[in-house]
Amino acid sequence: MTLGQGQHYLAIPGPSVMPDRVLAAMHRAAPNIYEGAMTDAMPGIVADLKSIARTRHDVAIYIGNGHAAWEAALANTHAPGDLALVLATGRFAHGWAGMADAMQIDTRIIDHGTSTPVDPARLAEALAADPEHRIKSVLVVQADTSTSVLSDIAPLRAVLDAAGHPALLMVDCIASLACDRFEMDAWGVDLMVAGSQKGLMTPPGMAFVFFNDRARAAAPAHVSSYWDWRPRTAAKNLSQYFCGTAPTHHLFALREALDMIAEEGMEAVWTRHDTLARAIWAAAEGWRAGGALRLNVGDAAHRSRAVTTLHLPQPKATELRRWLEANAGVTLGIGLGFETDDDPDATGTFRIGHMGHVNAHMVMGVLGVVEAGLNALDIPHGAGALSAASEVISVV
Ligand SMILES: *Cc1c(COP(=O)(O)O)cnc(C)c1O
Repeated sequence: MTLGQGQHYLAIPGPSVMPDRVLAAMHRAAPNIYEGAMTDAMPGIVADLKSIARTRHDVAIYIGNGHAAWEAALANTHAPGDLALVLATGRFAHGWAGMADAMQIDTRIIDHGTSTPVDPARLAEALAADPEHRIKSVLVVQADTSTSVLSDIAPLRAVLDAAGHPALLMVDCIASLACDRFEMDAWGVDLMVAGSQKGLMTPPGMAFVFFNDRARAAAPAHVSSYWDWRPRTAAKNLSQYFCGTAPTHHLFALREALDMIAEEGMEAVWTRHDTLARAIWAAAEGWRAGGALRLNVGDAAHRSRAVTTLHLPQPKATELRRWLEANAGVTLGIGLGFETDDDPDATGTFRIGHMGHVNAHMVMGVLGVVEAGLNALDIPHGAGALSAASEVISVV
């Protein structure tokens, strides 16, 4: 017997839950890719993406995942030998740095560990030590999905401006877009990367690179015709937008998801994510009292509203994930970036994804079965976690 029958809930930090409306939108015959409705839909899709990113500048769309967005961003702004300064708060910043490295871009990493946000003072120091302006870009992840650390972006622009340093500010919002507040133009971000499968509620397979004129002007002498963002942002037909065949059914899905976000309204989307995240944190704090479960990020102001990273003494996190999958119809995210010699598989860490198409009953359901799992596995935990979570939800 299992209590896991019924609608399964993939509560991992991407790919996220896809709305029925998005799935249904894809269930149709292949469209004409040369002219007609899909070609005509592109300007609206571009405009809606830009409004979610809060930018009036450009967006290039690629068939690819977040890694493709990373490469596209670097390929259009850096030549081999350029220097990228990476402000790391988890595995994904190191991943972007590793990709730069493989593209023969020099990298310098300022490692902030795994539970504290980027420190603008450390950026200021690095810029002060670079009077020749060798640093071409500052790469930062708004919400690092491995640690769930959320960093403030606007202060980084202030530091760059105060130093009179021309480096581009490039932000990975793959986890955070449409979950945590992000204001590309108001915050002075030159380039931002995102993917389809997290806050945008669309299947994995589309990557977005938003960029302004400063980023455009950084173009290196050579960019491959596939990665080059210029034709993609001056496109008149689908094959120019995508350098080949368009991802037709992803576009049907994305169009529907963008409609859903517009209907709800960006502010409401952010507030929903904030409230649901606070419910999860309230439960986690309740379990912590008298127990061993603990949030990775102590300061609530620097926690992502898209994903929450939690620790349990090893190997209990893995046991809890397995129990939930077998008995409760819920899949939680694995620990990432917390591998140690004692715990090579990060079995003492797990993550709850709460990005995109998530509502109060889904979050309360996950929290309820996590508590059942803690009980079933004899993992000590404090009482009152679920009522603390429901209190957050009931005061909206
Ligand atoms: C998911 C994610 C990535 C990687 O995206 P893929 O689609 O798996 O390539 C990069 N950065 C962040 C912050 C992410 O959440």
